[in-house]
Amino acid sequence: MSQTWSPESWRSKPIQQQPVYPDAAHLARVEQTLAGYPPLVFAGEARELRRQFAEVTQGRAFLLQGGDCAESFAEFSAGKIRDTFKVLLQMAIAMTFAAGCPVVKVGRMAGQFAKPRSSGEESIDGVTLPAYRGDIVNGIGFDEKNRVPDPERLLQAYHQSTASLNLLRAFAQGGFADLHQVHQWNLDFIASAELTEKYGQLADRIDETLAFMRACGLENAPQVRETSFFTAHETLLLNYEQAFARKDSLTGDWYDCSAHMLWIGDRTRQLDGAHVEFLRGVGNPIGVKVGPSMASDELIRLIDILNPDNDPGRLNLIVRMGADKVEQHLPRLIRAVQGEGRQVLWSSDPMHGNTIKASSGYKTRDFAQVLNEVKQFFQVHQAENSYPGGIHIEMTGQNVTECIGGTRPITEAGLSDRYHTHCDPRLNADQSLELAFLIADTLKQ
Ligand code: PEP
Ligand code: MN
Repeated sequence: MSQTWSPESWRSKPIQQQPVYPDAAHLARVEQTLAGYPPLVFAGEARELRRQFAEVTQGRAFLLQGGDCAESFAEFSAGKIRDTFKVLLQMAIAMTFAAGCPVVKVGRMAGQFAKPRSSGEESIDGVTLPAYRGDIVNGIGFDEKNRVPDPERLLQAYHQSTASLNLLRAFAQGGFADLHQVHQWNLDFIASAELTEKYGQLADRIDETLAFMRACGLENAPQVRETSFFTAHETLLLNYEQAFARKDSLTGDWYDCSAHMLWIGDRTRQLDGAHVEFLRGVGNPIGVKVGPSMASDELIRLIDILNPDNDPGRLNLIVRMGADKVEQHLPRLIRAVQGEGRQVLWSSDPMHGNTIKASSGYKTRDFAQVLNEVKQFFQVHQAENSYPGGIHIEMTGQNVTECIGGTRPITEAGLSDRYHTHCDPRLNADQSLELAFLIADTLKQ
């Protein structure tokens, strides 16, 4: 590993999962344009999230991270952003109120456009084309023209991200997230009577608490009237990320100002690779996906590179084993981290190790397995005397039918009803809320 980091030092490292653009000069022009645009976030906000991550790492808060697998240009509207934000607020309120635990909210939103793929190609009926890599790279339509990587898409992703972030900031701080609105966050289509009742009871108790606070003259505390909300995406397309590497004028440190938090995927976390090289040099809180192939000593070396100062707010290990592999792999990784005295924020991604193909051909996930992985994640941490700090999920506020199971069960046959995802299957609002209540019950104990 070279000792000197620069925003472009990743370019001399081996790199995985990148598109090949047909016109390099066009790409370079777009990169320059982006580098001249205003950043999406400000370094001070990333530092604030680091402070909150440190609270989580030390067992004083819980991290809730969620959103689409892949945002898309077509499915871009205020309503969609609002509904996902609402479900995240509902989930957070269940955990905060039921478990008495502050929740740090981070959306896979306003920048989650690039997708790693297990194969660079896709074949349908004997026709083979380059794989779809997310709207920031190429089009999902299965024809040759769509699948050519187009640098103009980087600009569109930037503009969509700015508009999304603008709305999220308005929702978080402009009154929508005011706790007095807690009844309004419930989505009309939450169909499970059990969940509606459970959430209604919670909202009633919050109302009572607010009435009490009003009587005490405390109802206008900013914590009641607004919330903080952060954004994150996978740092995959390094041409894009480099354009947002900016030197903070207050501290002189570099930050990736395309989002508050960035993570490295399970397919691009090679110790000597370009993605690790890029993120090691920016001051944001960062994450790494940790799948079953991660060796224990490899994890320690990765932590050495990404968090050399052992800062508790710096590094989030996002564990995505699959329900059947948690017990086999998580204890050894926790022991390695503890044995070396490393401070990390452990969270569970119960989605990516549990993807299956339904007999109808749809990519899906069984909600029972998602719950199972989360439960085991908590149990293993408890057994190892470690803190299970958070959850990282693919979800949406839309009433989709992408994952099977749940209290209002979605069956394999029902998947085709409203299967809208641009990549992996997401939990719908019912399933997300059910998961939140399960976590709240666990945190309470
Ligand atoms: C993702 O989070 O969408 C993803 C591709 O995850 P992973 O890197 O864990 O496979
Ligand atoms: Mn995914």
